[in-house]
Amino acid sequence: MSAIARRGLCLVLAAPSGAGKTAITRALLATEPRLHLSISVTTRAPRAGEVDGVHYHFRTEADFIRATRADELLEWAQVLKGSHYYGTPRAPVEAALAAGNDVVFDIDWQGHRQLRQKLPADLVGVFVLPPSLAVLEARLRTRAGDDEAEIVRRMRGARDEISHWGDFDHVLVNDDLADAVTAVRAILHAARLATARQTGLPGFISGLG
Ligand code: 5GP
Repeated sequence: MSAIARRGLCLVLAAPSGAGKTAITRALLATEPRLHLSISVTTRAPRAGEVDGVHYHFRTEADFIRATRADELLEWAQVLKGSHYYGTPRAPVEAALAAGNDVVFDIDWQGHRQLRQKLPADLVGVFVLPPSLAVLEARLRTRAGDDEAEIVRRMRGARDEISHWGDFDHVLVNDDLADAVTAVRAILHAARLATARQTGLPGFISGLG
């Protein structure tokens, strides 16, 4: 397909944790060279295997508060009530969009709501549902690093997160990872072709001859 200049877009994938959005995101990034991952800042401790600067920027609460005051975060939220803070660094997102690239965000409904307010024309929101809460709990239990209290807290958080499905442009059930990846890729490709996003169209049309 001809490369017509276009504005970058923000693809938000939200879901209760354990619904598979991290796996979907990884699979998308592997096949989409113009898609960048937004790496969040968090005050939670790394899980086994998580690397600072790759999975998250792990920071102290004092550092996090400093970043919010310095307006370095595009959005931020306390994802589970009374628990840790998470936020999206502004500079990498602005750089990617300015270069005509797309950014994928693994953030919660609160972050999605804030980004939608800030970038209404450039945001595509996808909500990923688990096939059932039983499947979600089983996935959380097989994941290393969370103790019983954290799993109970995450299951409570899951019900709350799911209650916000109506805020999103697209909703899908992840009962098969490959199918879910195909669906999200189709959403991304369609959004890239939105008329208003293709800033190079007037020039292309006039050059058609
Ligand atoms: P986890 O602790 O399992 O990595 O993430 C918990 C939740 O925090 C997930 O639902 C994830 O999408 C959300 N989250 C991660 N980064 C951010 C962020 O930068 N902003 C917001 N609002 N939520 C985030």
